[in-house]
Amino acid sequence: MAHGLNPAQLDAVRTLSGPLLVLAGAGTGKTRVVTVRIAELIKSGVRPDRILAVTFTRKASGEMQERAAELLIKGKKFAKGGRGGRQKRLPKDAPRPEISTFHSLCVRVLRRHIAQLGYPERFTIADRGDQESEARSALREIKAPGEALGPSDLLAQISRWKMGSVLPSEAASIAESDQQHLAAVAYRRYQNNLKKAGVVDFDDLLLLTETLFKEHPTIRREEAGRFDHVLVDEYQDTNHSQYEIVRALAIGHRNLCVVGDDDQSIYAWRGAEVTHILGFHRDWPGAKVVRLEDNYRSRAPIINYANTLIAFNSVRHDKVLRPQREGDDTPRIMQCNDETEESKKVVSDIRFRLQQAGWFVGGPPEGQDNERPRLWPNDFAILFRTNEQPRAFEQELRAAKLPYVLIGGMSFYDRREVRDLLAYLKLVCNPDDEPALLRIMNTPPRGIGDGARKALVEHAVSQGKPLWRVLGDAPSIPNMSAAARQGVEKLTTAVESWRHLANLGEPVGALVRRVVGESRYHDELLRLYPDPKEREAREVALEEIVNAAAAYQDKKGAKASLQDFLDEVATGDRHDTDDKESQLGRGAIALMTLHAAKGLEFPHVYLVGMEEGILPHKRSLADGENAIAEERRLAYVGVTRARDRLTMSLALTRRKWGKPRDTVPSRFLYEMTGQADNPRYAAIKAGRAANTPNSGKKTARRR
Ligand code: ATP
Ligand code: MG
Repeated sequence: MAHGLNPAQLDAVRTLSGPLLVLAGAGTGKTRVVTVRIAELIKSGVRPDRILAVTFTRKASGEMQERAAELLIKGKKFAKGGRGGRQKRLPKDAPRPEISTFHSLCVRVLRRHIAQLGYPERFTIADRGDQESEARSALREIKAPGEALGPSDLLAQISRWKMGSVLPSEAASIAESDQQHLAAVAYRRYQNNLKKAGVVDFDDLLLLTETLFKEHPTIRREEAGRFDHVLVDEYQDTNHSQYEIVRALAIGHRNLCVVGDDDQSIYAWRGAEVTHILGFHRDWPGAKVVRLEDNYRSRAPIINYANTLIAFNSVRHDKVLRPQREGDDTPRIMQCNDETEESKKVVSDIRFRLQQAGWFVGGPPEGQDNERPRLWPNDFAILFRTNEQPRAFEQELRAAKLPYVLIGGMSFYDRREVRDLLAYLKLVCNPDDEPALLRIMNTPPRGIGDGARKALVEHAVSQGKPLWRVLGDAPSIPNMSAAARQGVEKLTTAVESWRHLANLGEPVGALVRRVVGESRYHDELLRLYPDPKEREAREVALEEIVNAAAAYQDKKGAKASLQDFLDEVATGDRHDTDDKESQLGRGAIALMTLHAAKGLEFPHVYLVGMEEGILPHKRSLADGENAIAEERRLAYVGVTRARDRLTMSLALTRRKWGKPRDTVPSRFLYEMTGQADNPRYAAIKAGRAANTPNSGKKTARRR
């Protein structure tokens, strides 16, 4: 087998032009096809930098880059003179394929052209906290009654509109309820305020790029002209804007290869539409469609469970998934009395297996080393559905001295001190970024109390200028204390000096270190966290950002800029020490949401909390069959992450607001184990099985 590919895969990678769809189940090698196809394109003479690939996992993009680099080096294009040695690494400026996520692709497009949409070129990207504060101001400004619409409901509605490509000017005409009408008014205000501040939110990245391409054909042509080939992984999860962006980029040359699996479409709630992949052959007449049926990832019993489970979805493309790996290790169902026992059992199982495999927990004893265990911590993943679940597991893992990394839960970048520091850095790049300015105006305290802040904001509104630009007027604003005036002056002087240094090209790492030091943020930590242990954790977080900035500087060399660093942070395109996925490679157990696990694989997978109300999620229970079908796809994604062993766990009671309540086993357990004829299954589906004592005990164990 050339490249280690089967004939169908080879057919796909050797189809080098025209529209191509690979529609196939989990673990059939779709991502591998994308990787090898990039290599084939390069071999056939396509310039690497004329290839664009959109991927979602760091692992995949790393592999794609590596493979492309290997080929280029092998092609002797970079053979070095002198003592016959050939260069092992690609020179920094060698052409490479552009491999990125949709969001980072859009940031790059917008950095070049956003001025056409009336935004400043030096826009900054809002995080969730910025969005909330903007939503609150918008609601205040339109005098929305508090009980009618809260900031998070407003943000959810705005996000739905943006993901469906609905512009602020269009929202009012499609609003149905009073609440939506109010939200439409607030949406306009929210968007105007963001625009004035030169700030875009995450959904804007996609929607603005889509708008740019639609309204400015020359820009669309220019951007499309950068690439001759476009490849998209996980195409089943594209939302409307992403779909339009792909189309805009590929419509000229039609060299578009998309791969995906309708059974793994798990982002409908984020606006993804599975019709995009199912309608591909209609959108792209003459498209070649390749189906892959052999699963190379999981052992046979795991695939049997996955197949049985997904067949319960009535609306789907029927696909064959044939296991290529033998094995008789039936997935286990681990029943526990409560959630504490669940985490203890799972963690001790992992610990036991690691020890059996020759891995020394807590480091090797003297004279021995951890050199060749048969399993590493990163061979294990604990997958969960909801954000409440990981806490108990984290606690156990820490107690068991097992290294782990939490992905997709509360992010490192959501921490208060990290957000404060990032707000400073955003302000250095874009002084009009009002949410950032308001965030750190008096953090650490510099005398600008609430009264002074209000006076400044009112002054800015009356002048019709961004807040930053009226700070110089502070001395003449009535009701400002001397302390507040001094504070304002100190802040502006400091930010101006950092900006000056940034413009002079001070290395990003040094600049970030300087901002931490000169903002006197350490004093703030001292004030907020008298407990030295707590403070140390915060200090470490700040240090991580400095490290990340320094690592970024090393990677980018002379091309590094603070702006790009912040873009990478915002879009999750991080190549830094906190890069979660790269920590996986360094030997940590992965603790992650099912959504985050898409595309990844692990020898040992623990799918925890297999209960009604968790998986399927309680929101879906009220929302009918379509919602349940999406939860089932999520369960299918979870099951198909496992290579060798799958363990599913459930707790018979689980605490709600501190009180233990009986649970109901997930209907998916009955489905995959062939127990759909069990009367309890019918009762669960009909919603009649809620909270009966010890209900879970009746789930039979297979074998
Ligand atoms: P998912 O739907 O989960 O994203 P996928 O279809 O993208 O899965 P890959 O991740 O590309 O599948 O491949 C699954 C596993 O099978 C990987 O470990 C890959 O290296 C391996 N694999 C793919 N094709 C072959 C093959 N022809 N021979 C042997 N192993 C293969
Ligand atoms: Mg894949």
